[in-house]
Amino acid sequence: MVKLGAHMSIAGGYYKAVDAAAEYSMDVVQLFTKNNNQWAAKPITESDCSLFQESLKRTGVTRPLSHSSYLINLASPKDELWRKSIDSMIVEWQRAEQLGLDGVVMHPGSYVESTPESGLERIALAIQEIYEKVAPKNAWLLLENTAGQGTNLGWNMEQLGWLLNKTGETMQVGVCLDTCHAHAAGYDFSTAEGFKEWEKEAKKQNVLGAIRALHLNDSKKGCGSRVDRHEHIGLGTIGREGIQRVLKHKTLKTLPMYLETEKGTNDDEEEWDAINMRVLRELE
Ligand SMILES: [Zn+2]
Ligand SMILES: [Zn+2]
Repeated sequence: MVKLGAHMSIAGGYYKAVDAAAEYSMDVVQLFTKNNNQWAAKPITESDCSLFQESLKRTGVTRPLSHSSYLINLASPKDELWRKSIDSMIVEWQRAEQLGLDGVVMHPGSYVESTPESGLERIALAIQEIYEKVAPKNAWLLLENTAGQGTNLGWNMEQLGWLLNKTGETMQVGVCLDTCHAHAAGYDFSTAEGFKEWEKEAKKQNVLGAIRALHLNDSKKGCGSRVDRHEHIGLGTIGREGIQRVLKHKTLKTLPMYLETEKGTNDDEEEWDAINMRVLRELE
């Protein structure tokens, strides 16, 4: 069985995300360790940690992962934002360590008014410094592929491969593959040929072996649209078969997969988390 779960809310405590995941019979969970739209963060207390660990033990939910703040931009050409992003990413990684998470997912960054090349250099330099300051023992930093919206970097396998080459395993840096982002970026996950082509490229750029987690999302926008809009599983432009290929892929199926689809209910007042989990269990 594939380890499946979703991003869950930490309102009321970190353990609430774990408990919520267990309610939907999820195996794994992703959470924010702080408000993702703010720089500041309250320190994590010992009681936060023990409640969190206790909920993992009690429910059997494993492979907890965090997603870092959307404000962070390690590719920023502006020194002030770049420094602030480095400091913030240090805190994010430390918090993942403190809570005993598998890792923290990060969008590589946007080059804004500079160039892709200089943006990538800035990211690599930043990660090297962050890694030294954090000196992580267990938690990994996972670079997430993006849809390539605007000046977002890390949308193709070549850019991810370049970043991994400058950081990689020795710095506990891996990849989180987002299916919606890959498809929107131009890798056609809706067809067997398109998926094969992605796989070939991911192997060639040494990305495939660095993937440690997946974000399972269908896409509202088409392949190559470079627009990041998540859709419920099977209802988007990737479709059931496309998602099924990912679930059955011999390497990917061994990795934890997290939904980042919209919450709420459908017209029959059934929870979307429950629906998406059911569809995934049918497809795996
Ligand atoms: Zn994602
Ligand atoms: Zn997204």
